[in-house]
Amino acid sequence: MSEKKVAVITGSGQGIGKALAERLANEEFTIVLSDINEEILTETENEFRKNGFEVTSFIGNVAKPEDQAALVQHAVDTFGRLDVFINNAGVEGQVGPLTSADPKAVDFTLDVNVKGVIYGIQAAANQMKKQGSGGKIINACSIAGQEGFEMLGVYSASKFAVKGLTQTAAKELAPFKITVNSYCPGIVGTGMWERLDEKMMEHMGTKKGEAFAKFTEGIALGRSQTAEDVANLVSFLASSNSDYMTGQNIITDGGMVFN
Ligand code: NAD
Repeated sequence: MSEKKVAVITGSGQGIGKALAERLANEEFTIVLSDINEEILTETENEFRKNGFEVTSFIGNVAKPEDQAALVQHAVDTFGRLDVFINNAGVEGQVGPLTSADPKAVDFTLDVNVKGVIYGIQAAANQMKKQGSGGKIINACSIAGQEGFEMLGVYSASKFAVKGLTQTAAKELAPFKITVNSYCPGIVGTGMWERLDEKMMEHMGTKKGEAFAKFTEGIALGRSQTAEDVANLVSFLASSNSDYMTGQNIITDGGMVFN
């Protein structure tokens, strides 16, 4: 059994998830990486091992309840317990006007971003309840979960759902000392935004990089967000400093959406 706390991070082969895993590894967590993309997952696991981090990995699709259960089982078989579960995996999915949203893309977006979080919460909570010593479930929401954005209606709907799931799970799991909170980033320059920018070119008549620039120009602090900015918040949510917080969806966006 690991003496350190054990954190599972979905969608951690790259982007925000990888940065969260790196931060927690540096804060003495034992790390379970997970992703649907085997190649980038293996690359990241190798990089973590080279850096001396205690790590294992699991290939899985968050939209499948059996994969989420197997991911938690893998964490427990490898390191003996589960303390923090981060439902980070997500897709931009359907991008474009709601009036012409493609049903297959709508299903795909909701499957990963909404069902993925439901099944992640289920798998994590079942294990944490068995252990009997509480735990922390942390979900990826977004500023798009606070306000609907043009061309991102389905993605926004999926992140509004994450907000509701976070509140419900917090209430249901509080008796077990399991807290549930979410992080709501703004505009982070990951692979997701490269794809978003390309998809928006089709609908908004923008050139490469223009949609990203348009979305970032109104940020009060004057720059786009880094994955490390997100890790600053998630590090707090994974630590005992957040023990008295649950059901909160916290914005970290440099000043875009104010509530
Ligand atoms: P990304 O595309 O760079 O990385 C996402 C990772 O998740 C990839 O490695 C991908 O392979 C994996 N993944 C996708 N579908 C999966 C599935 N079904 N099962 C398991 N893994 C899967 O994205 P990112 O920008 O790092 O986003 C991470 C999270 O943060 C997402 O939930 C996203 O909605 C949210 N978010 C991102 C931004 C942003 O600006 N990038 C802003 C707000 C919220």
